Amino acid sequence: MNAIGNVTGITANLVTVRTQGAVAQNEICYLQLGPYRLMGEVIKVRGDRAFVQVFESTRGLKTGNPVRFTGNMLEVHLGPGMLNKKYDGLQNDLDKIDELFLERGVYTPALDEEDEWEFTPLVKTGMEVAAGDWLGEIPEHSISHKVMAPFELKGHWRVDYVVPKGKYKLEDTLIMLKNQDGEERPVGMAQKWPIKRPLTAYRHKLRPGKVLQTGIRAIDSMSPMAEGGTGFIPGPFGSGKTILQHSLSQNARTDVIIFAACGERANEIVGLLKEFEELEDPRTGHKLMERLVLICNTSNMPVAAREASVYTAMTIAEYYRLMGLRVLLLADSTSRWAQAMREMSNRLEELPGPDAYPMDLTATIANYYARAGRVELRNHQHGSVTFIGTVSPAGGNLKEPVTEATKKAARCYYALSQQRADRKRYPAIEPVESYSKYLEYPEVTDYLNEHLTANWTKLLEKARDLLLRGREAAEQINILGDDGVPIAYHETYWKAEMLDFVILQQDAFDDIDKFTPLDRQQYMLERVMKVCDRSFKFSNFEEVRQFFQQAINLFRQMNYSSFKGEAFQRFEQQLDQHLAPKEPVS
Ligand code: ADP
Ligand code: MG
Repeated sequence: MNAIGNVTGITANLVTVRTQGAVAQNEICYLQLGPYRLMGEVIKVRGDRAFVQVFESTRGLKTGNPVRFTGNMLEVHLGPGMLNKKYDGLQNDLDKIDELFLERGVYTPALDEEDEWEFTPLVKTGMEVAAGDWLGEIPEHSISHKVMAPFELKGHWRVDYVVPKGKYKLEDTLIMLKNQDGEERPVGMAQKWPIKRPLTAYRHKLRPGKVLQTGIRAIDSMSPMAEGGTGFIPGPFGSGKTILQHSLSQNARTDVIIFAACGERANEIVGLLKEFEELEDPRTGHKLMERLVLICNTSNMPVAAREASVYTAMTIAEYYRLMGLRVLLLADSTSRWAQAMREMSNRLEELPGPDAYPMDLTATIANYYARAGRVELRNHQHGSVTFIGTVSPAGGNLKEPVTEATKKAARCYYALSQQRADRKRYPAIEPVESYSKYLEYPEVTDYLNEHLTANWTKLLEKARDLLLRGREAAEQINILGDDGVPIAYHETYWKAEMLDFVILQQDAFDDIDKFTPLDRQQYMLERVMKVCDRSFKFSNFEEVRQFFQQAINLFRQMNYSSFKGEAFQRFEQQLDQHLAPKEPVS
């Protein structure tokens, strides 16, 4: 018997309920309001009082209104048909409604019951299976969706029967499992899973070893991301966080993308939906949406729905990981999620931590990031969830609690700088402060040195060092004036500028420049660094400027041309001619 109760207090979306019967943390309940049923989640239990965060407006709710508990936690429905969908945080299908917002108390099914799917069994009668094992497959756009043994299954079960290959619907039983006690368990193509519980039906987690090619030079060539790695993008408003995430979703070498748009203004979300619908998949030529799931929440939805959206997104990502796929999970912005936690914590009158965020903010963020990773499945195949979130620190203050907490949890840090954005140096990733801790993993550096060139990581260090020296030179020139410093300072400054313009800056809106494969990145970085290694003979600083500006211009023309194509080679020849008269004096 599930518990029931009555509303005793209402503070915005936090409702207190006097309960009859046992109620569990994170249990879902429905609050009756006239003809409506509002969904809520238990976030704290104290004796016979439950604190419930309601996912919708509580307008009109009164003390005494009846509440029914469900015995279930907030779950997602996992199965074929999620790709190409736009959900809200409670997995309502936004295409099934006219407006961006649901009417109160209305919930739409996440998966379509009427759709037919072509199922091919991967198991035979008599085979033994355990949680997460692949039982069959269903083609869905470009991916092979796996029907898996129920994730909560305990121990080993035997396949009692499996339906023949053919077309089936969501609710059909495809496989019957039996255990030693003769217990039966029908399996269909979909299942449910509570969003706050990591989906761990795999063998084990692996240390990150492979590099995830994003095609973005400021990431791959400076602070590489690992497959199954974590990173975050802090940046002030307008610095390019959203554009960078779009660029990642389109270009990173992954199979499935889950994009959680969290807490942005409604008009931005509408724009985002449009933009995503138009994005092309550079690999298939089809719409990118065919391998993408979008989860949206706007800033005018109750804060609880934001929290749900980040967990829903993660659980869906983990689901595809169990199919042996490489998943990229993007969340924009996790600050809005943290603010939701803060609001709820304040309403609960909990002892606040720094800036009134909950005391356990760091732990909550760390636990979330820890769900990413590369795993080995029970069948020895691999899958990964790479997670990159954005953080929008108020006033660009990187010392605020959410940025600090995220910095502890994420292994890559891609700080967007206001200064770079103001100067239109996109992507505005600050090259000296940003880092990838994966460069400290021998597996990752071995991978890079093996797949690119033997001294790739050395080259990265050299590039970073040049940027630092360029910055120092710029400061000296600023203080002492163009004529007040040796010409060598100008040379260093312009070499760093060249590295910035040719490698770090990248046009997200140019068909060629927006994606640079690793081999091309290697070619260009080596090319640029070779020029930087030389010392030239200049008679005055104006000459230095002109010389490097011309070189930058030719390098950039190369960036805009097909790799090693005719135009590319022509610009490269011009570059060689330009550099030749200044051949090294060393
Ligand atoms: P944020 O999400 O940080 O508020 P946006 O991603 O919306 O910022 O970017 C704001 C604006 O900056 C964009 O509309 C665009 O004009 C410009 N911009 C950002 N990144 C790039 C880029 N890589 N190339 C060109 N323009 C960019
Ligand atoms: Mg944005």
